[in-house]
Amino acid sequence: MEIIQGLHKIDGIRYVNSYLLVRENGIVVIDTGMPGNAERIVSYVENLGYKSSYIKTIILTHSDIDHSGSAKKLRELTGAKIAISDIDAPRVEGKMELKKLKGPFAPFLRAMFKLSKFQIFEPDVLLREGDQIEGLSVIRTPGHTDGSISLYSRGNLSMFVGDALWGDDKGEAKSPSSIVTADMEEAWKSIKKISAFECNIILPGHGNPIMPEATKKVKELLAKYPL
Ligand SMILES: [Zn+2]
Repeated sequence: MEIIQGLHKIDGIRYVNSYLLVRENGIVVIDTGMPGNAERIVSYVENLGYKSSYIKTIILTHSDIDHSGSAKKLRELTGAKIAISDIDAPRVEGKMELKKLKGPFAPFLRAMFKLSKFQIFEPDVLLREGDQIEGLSVIRTPGHTDGSISLYSRGNLSMFVGDALWGDDKGEAKSPSSIVTADMEEAWKSIKKISAFECNIILPGHGNPIMPEATKKVKELLAKYPL
């Protein structure tokens, strides 16, 4: 589904949003879904009329399996480079536990992640605050994971936020679920940080795009939960 020109949400990926940016010099994929979605992403791109090798870059907003699970396979199919924050990289490399969780649901979620057949991989590019990648500015937005990042496009006033924010059915902003968020206090600070950027559209990892007037909606959410 094309959200605005050149920006797609890939149809048929369950539980999570995987986005495409179609550029003159190649395609950028932002988040890949659970393991098993790489072929679906490739066929979406082919249906747009491009070869799979036109996918040049895969950017992961964070290490969680529902976002990173198909990155390795997609790289194998396309030759694209995988970029993730330096802080979440050890989790996909298998050097740290894939998901840091606390609270009553942690053991259950941990067991679920183990069953999901995550294949570890080495990223090609490590991202830090202020880096530029494919015309997007990297903004650290920790909380959901330590190394979560958001990606801001000044050109079309849009931001990919991973699970720093969720979208609801009406295109309003929601906070991420505390059950799957490593540090809720940090998460709220990150939402405040996001609200300082002018955005018409915010593309969350789950739920509908927050649009129009995304920044206003994030500020309204923050007003309900003062830090
Ligand atoms: Zn997620």
